Amino acid sequence: MKYIFVTGGVVSSLGKGLTAASLGTLLENRGLKVALQKFDPYLNVDPGTMNPYQHGEVYVLDDGAETDLDLGHYERFTNVQLTRLNNLTSGQVYQTVLNNEREGKYLGKTVQVIPHVTDEIKKRMHVLAEHSGADVIITEIGGTTGDIEGLPFLEAIREFALEVGYNNAIFVHVTYVPFIKAAGELKSKPTQQSVAKLREIGIAPHIVVCRCERPLDKELRQKISIFCNVPFEAVVEEKDVDHTIYEVPLMLQRERMDDLVCSLLHLDLPPAKMGHWQEIIRKLIAPQHRVRIGVVGKYIELQDAYKSVYEAISHGGIANDCGVEIQRVDSEDIEREGAEKYLKGLGGILVPGGFGERGIEGKIQAARYARENLVPYLGLCLGMQIATIEFARNVLKLAKAHSTEFDPNTPHPVIAMLDSQTKVTKKGGTMRLGAQACQLVVGTKTAQLYGAFVVKERHRHRYEFNNAYRERFLKADFVFSGQTPDGKLVEIIELPKHPFFIGCQFHPEFRSKPHQPHPLFKGFIAAAHAYTRQKPVEPRL
Ligand code: GLN
Repeated sequence: MKYIFVTGGVVSSLGKGLTAASLGTLLENRGLKVALQKFDPYLNVDPGTMNPYQHGEVYVLDDGAETDLDLGHYERFTNVQLTRLNNLTSGQVYQTVLNNEREGKYLGKTVQVIPHVTDEIKKRMHVLAEHSGADVIITEIGGTTGDIEGLPFLEAIREFALEVGYNNAIFVHVTYVPFIKAAGELKSKPTQQSVAKLREIGIAPHIVVCRCERPLDKELRQKISIFCNVPFEAVVEEKDVDHTIYEVPLMLQRERMDDLVCSLLHLDLPPAKMGHWQEIIRKLIAPQHRVRIGVVGKYIELQDAYKSVYEAISHGGIANDCGVEIQRVDSEDIEREGAEKYLKGLGGILVPGGFGERGIEGKIQAARYARENLVPYLGLCLGMQIATIEFARNVLKLAKAHSTEFDPNTPHPVIAMLDSQTKVTKKGGTMRLGAQACQLVVGTKTAQLYGAFVVKERHRHRYEFNNAYRERFLKADFVFSGQTPDGKLVEIIELPKHPFFIGCQFHPEFRSKPHQPHPLFKGFIAAAHAYTRQKPVEPRL
């Protein structure tokens, strides 16, 4: 078993996760079975209770683990099977250590960060090594070198590397090389200092990956090599990509980073075959067609809040050789100024998941606009609930229909909490979570898109379609195209007379990859493309 530890220096948001995932892509395409793991130094047990301003998207795994969004990159870039073992937070570590202490597992001892906390971290690495059956584990350490809270993780990986031997474990440090305009040059000092900080803790990186806006010249590479104590070829340039994040693996391959990793870890493997990856990039950079998709949400200004949604849309574009321009629409703007102003001219409208009342009415107006103007609509989780509420109010004429999440006293609770959820008082990890089976109804557009009878999709919500209203919806041509195999929960809805109007109670965006675009996103972009090509039609519904 081989181990690669990825740390980060100078500033956050350097794209360590992307670097780790891209290295995973390359190693996988050299024939290795790869596992990827993320350590997060914060004290939350998982990011499930943080808001998107704090954390960006919460990425949900098959087993229901609510995890860091970097795990989304891991799944999109590789074929790894991630479980809750692949994301470890300080919160989980301390929770385990404190439970052990109360159970008397350390009886007689003073419980300390070293060795008890660090041992727990190392134990998690061994458990993953055993469970994953991987040849190599890439472990990303969240945060920035120098943060107090990250120290136990750095100490743990230092000890771990020593224990498994330096033939089997290497350190990759991702750092920032800023371009200073006034001086007209790239500066290596921050990199030198963050490597010095790492060495103070006892970690000497084998490879320094330099994030930069401009190419590193030979002299600068030499400087970084000397001051950071790594060979010249171990200074890897990772320049801002021109078009898409999926270029990163190819960029690292050009820098021969995977060759270096293989030689450091004594792995004798053929070069990575990346032809399929190049084709993906070709379709992203030079697509045959173009569409514009509106994403209507309330965290629109935040780059990371709907990360997987934006990625899955671009995958739908790849599948249709269609470049997708995403227009982010703030649902509160729609509330203030109407849907038409923001949604006119779009090829498709998507309402993603969400919680809380703010901006809900704007999303309902967006769904109405899509339904009435025959604009392709895809509703994800909350987006399905929104479409249901809109239909209830404006087609079934159920005045003030709502979800009990937003109006507990609504006369028509078309979306309501499951009985099993009403007794839950704890907030962490208590939603309907993870991959669950959904049975599709033959003859529906959804079944046609999936080309399957039963699919598994990931959930993260508390509220559901209220079955007391099923009959009324059915009579108005509102089709339930997917449900749980026991028939109890509505999972997918669609409007058969609309060219594409689909809502799903789950999050298909978590299952889409550039080389395996999700069928719902593929169909959505195809419909958006068809809609864009035809002249706008008169409202029919
Ligand atoms: N707030 C809604 C619920 O809990 C939808 C959640 C979501 O979109 N993930 O059911």
